[in-house]
Amino acid sequence: MADVQTTNQSILVVGGGMSGITAALEAAEAGYDVVLVEKNPYLGGRVTQLYQYFPKLCPPNCGLEINFRRMRENSKVRFFTMAEVASISGQEGDYDVTVKLPPRYVNEKCTCCGKCAEVCEVEIDNPFNYGMDKIKAAYLPHEFAFPMRYVLDPSITGTDEGKKCLDACEYGAIDLEMEETFFDLKVGAIVWAAGWDPYDAAKVDYYGFGEYKNVITNVMMERMAAPNGPTEGKILRPSDKKEPKNIAFIQCAGSRDENYLPYCSGICCLASLKHSTYVRELYPDCDVTIFFIDIRALDRLEDFYVKVQEDEKVTFIKSKIANITEDEETGGLLLEGENTRTGEQILMNFDMVVLATGMVPNKIEIDAALDVSYDEYGFLINDPEKTGIYGAGCVRRPTDVASSVQDATAGALKAIQSIARR
Ligand SMILES: Cc1cc2nc3c(=O)[nH]c(=O)nc-3n(C[C@H](O)[C@H](O)[C@H](O)COP(=O)(O)OP(=O)(O)OC[C@H]3O[C@@H](n4cnc5c(N)ncnc54)[C@H](O)[C@@H]3O)c2cc1C
Ligand code: SF4
Ligand code: SF4
Repeated sequence: MADVQTTNQSILVVGGGMSGITAALEAAEAGYDVVLVEKNPYLGGRVTQLYQYFPKLCPPNCGLEINFRRMRENSKVRFFTMAEVASISGQEGDYDVTVKLPPRYVNEKCTCCGKCAEVCEVEIDNPFNYGMDKIKAAYLPHEFAFPMRYVLDPSITGTDEGKKCLDACEYGAIDLEMEETFFDLKVGAIVWAAGWDPYDAAKVDYYGFGEYKNVITNVMMERMAAPNGPTEGKILRPSDKKEPKNIAFIQCAGSRDENYLPYCSGICCLASLKHSTYVRELYPDCDVTIFFIDIRALDRLEDFYVKVQEDEKVTFIKSKIANITEDEETGGLLLEGENTRTGEQILMNFDMVVLATGMVPNKIEIDAALDVSYDEYGFLINDPEKTGIYGAGCVRRPTDVASSVQDATAGALKAIQSIARR
């Protein structure tokens, strides 16, 4: 059982992505006690799964590492991974919260020696790479994981495989008897920074995601391009592992459509522009075609759009692709639609298709009568009439990292003001 002493002067932050980390650090550096709760076995959120950041194309790990260092140096922040909020009751200035800690089966003595993974023969889908490859059931979530500690999948803990891992560990770090535990907190304010999930591309059935192997999504593209991803940084057709000669990006895949995700996610145009640079860097002869309704790249990001447009191997076609069919023999993909500028019909073949899907906010899924408001799409509203629980980052609107960080700083300030009012 975790022993966490908090009072109604403390702040709870839910979600350990860039928004949650920022809110927690800003509040802690202003002198407040903060508890950060993250459901993954590591901090960093979706950003850890990106290869590079637009527009500068730098690796996200630099920024994350700076924040992890700030966190290590600040005793005012206590964080828990593989943790979720089970219940919240009360009101501004006086919340009672119960946090659930499912078992990790590995304690803080883990040195990451990797011996348990070496002996483990069971493999599971790798969630970090969106199931594109497998990992051992005793695993480190990813190579830059913070905290750097292994996890045992529950599927092996009651089996001989779990026993093999236990016997292989020389540090007494594996505890197969570990059980789910709970602990209670008293806090004065809550920052909800639970981020986003990718829109389920399989819902857009006319694009064949899940059925056609060479149709992938934008988040999968990030992992493919990453050197620590499932293809070690090579962008390859999933069906035959060949280098693609041409790739199509379909913008607004399900987005801005009342039947699927009605709103614009704001960043998926920029993500595809960035992905075109990944492809062109790797394969100078590969053709990239971006099918778009209109490109959303505002302010300083417009320059990035202009730069990508200058690449003669990248073609932009204003169109909403209506259908994809697969050639079963070759795995090639036929795209059908209409060029909305010229009115011409589009019938074009590609080796691979990337669906630019949008972002779905992670709402507060707790069975409690909490005084919070959402907009029509499920994004949290920081309503001045409803104080005490504040959204930060992509739970408030789909946005990039820089804006998430600004929003999280504002969220921390609002939480501090809540405490000051009581
Ligand atoms: C394809 C793609 C590419 C992108 N590329 C870029 C880019 O190059 N540059 C850029 O600036 N932005 C980019 N973005 C946007 C970027 O990913 C977001 O701005 C960023 O993830 C927002 O951070 P966040 O903390 O709000 O959310 P997240 O990163 O989603 O973090 C939320 C955290 O909360 C945790 N969580 C969720 N529910 C719970 C719960 N109930 N309890 C506890 N924890 C919970 C999650 O596990 C996660 O760790 C891209 C987005 C996409 C889709
Ligand atoms: S759990 Fe034990 S065997 Fe596995 S990586 Fe950690 S220290 Fe090594
Ligand atoms: S950002 Fe671009 S691709 Fe994403 S929904 Fe908006 S217009 Fe469509």
